[in-house]
Amino acid sequence: MTIQKWVLGNWKMNGRLATNEALLSQLGQIDTDEKVAVGVAVPSVYLLPSLQAAQNVLVGAEDVSRFAADGAYTGEVSAAILADIGAQFTLIGHSERRQYFAEDEAVLAQKYANAVAAGVLPVLCVGETLEQREANQAQAVVAEQLSWLKDAVLLNQTVLVAYEPVWAIGTGVVASIEQIAQMHAFIQEHVLSLVGNAANIRLLYGGSVNADNCAAIFAVAHVDGALVGGASLKADSFANIITAAI
Ligand code: PGA
Repeated sequence: MTIQKWVLGNWKMNGRLATNEALLSQLGQIDTDEKVAVGVAVPSVYLLPSLQAAQNVLVGAEDVSRFAADGAYTGEVSAAILADIGAQFTLIGHSERRQYFAEDEAVLAQKYANAVAAGVLPVLCVGETLEQREANQAQAVVAEQLSWLKDAVLLNQTVLVAYEPVWAIGTGVVASIEQIAQMHAFIQEHVLSLVGNAANIRLLYGGSVNADNCAAIFAVAHVDGALVGGASLKADSFANIITAAI
């Protein structure tokens, strides 16, 4: 069975050992018939116990260092270290990283390249702020955030991009179906022009996805899944989102 949808959770700076294990155990019991790739991005200290507890659930990092080689980078976790412990993917360029840690395109391109080189699947997050959308710059902003992908992607590699309008993240304000459809069509075309193989492109929507709105979102063309924040911390909500994707 080929994967039809990706449903990834982003725990952000949340979780505790005991609750993580309970959550992963509940998620592992969902039979997606291999149609849905289910995963969670977790704080780095929880990667290893989560990997040990997870069954049928991918475990990835929320971020990766821009430095590739081992060395004197206190506090950093490299892509090679992620690969060493078996992390399967890493988020790159989440809007909270861009906002609070001033990550720019040059840094993100390095992170992406490091993940690819280490064999850790990068999930690139893009999206405009409300101000940018109101100024009619949403597509231009996203195009800029994708601009360096051409040099970063290897032939036949899966390109996972999460479109997360900043104004929809954690706000309860989900983008409209029309806004999602327009932006996903734009990203699909744009990424295709950069990497040249539609079969490998997977686009996730993120921003206030929940059990009630996910089915309508999954039905939109070029929506291949979701990146879920708040609702991924609650087993029932996340399970409902996963089930809706089957
Ligand atoms: P949210 O977060 O689902 O809580 O809006 C999404 C994200 O930040 O990835």
